[in-house]
Amino acid sequence: MTLEQIAKEAAESIYNQLGLEAMGVGREDVIPLLEDIALSIAGEYSSKPSPESVARRALAQRDALLKALAAKLAEKGEKLSLEELEFIIQYAPEVAGRAAPLLYHVARSYGADHLMPALRDLWSLYGNPTKAECPRCGFRALTPDYTCVVCGASVGESEFKARIAFERLLEAWALRAPLQLVEEAIRAGYVYYEDGEIKAPSEPGSRLRLQVFLSRSEREILEKALERVKAEKASSTSSSQPQASPRNTS
Ligand SMILES: [Zn+2]
Repeated sequence: MTLEQIAKEAAESIYNQLGLEAMGVGREDVIPLLEDIALSIAGEYSSKPSPESVARRALAQRDALLKALAAKLAEKGEKLSLEELEFIIQYAPEVAGRAAPLLYHVARSYGADHLMPALRDLWSLYGNPTKAECPRCGFRALTPDYTCVVCGASVGESEFKARIAFERLLEAWALRAPLQLVEEAIRAGYVYYEDGEIKAPSEPGSRLRLQVFLSRSEREILEKALERVKAEKASSTSSSQPQASPRNTS
């Protein structure tokens, strides 16, 4: 018997025990992995293993086997079936996270929207998440040039601004940021966006942050917020020193 024949026989005997049929994974995909197991047993004992010993080893290492199987399936790329896609997400989360751009397109082709939340999380955990969510696919995958590395969309600045509720974010930032940073942003005509935060041009940040240019009305939001902060500051200084205020002496 060749190692391949041993692996085939072992696959036959454990295919159902591993639950692979229910998961939509074919026998032919598991055989190469069992061949690897057969090879490693052969190396350990310097004799050919029996199909039974290969099957036993495979069952004892079920989780690792399923993970390796999922990683191998991921190599099929666009030819993946929906079941295989689900299998990869369940058993090889790291692989799924790294391959999220490819798996996203496969999932889309099946209309499998129910897989997207898991894929988004895995991308954030194990993939290459950027500093901003894409308005189209919702993955943290928008790059500084406003293209998405997952869905491939090229996004306009106004679409991005709508997604992050930019005006509200800007106002909230201007009301609590140091005055000179807000003034700096008004002068420069832009801010940076990074993980839900606004930053002034001179503030340090990730190379993946997005530059966001300010429209006239957005600049006015900053100016108004600045006036408000200054007015509040002025009134709090005068009310905290009532004895020095000329109004109290009259
Ligand atoms: Zn996208």
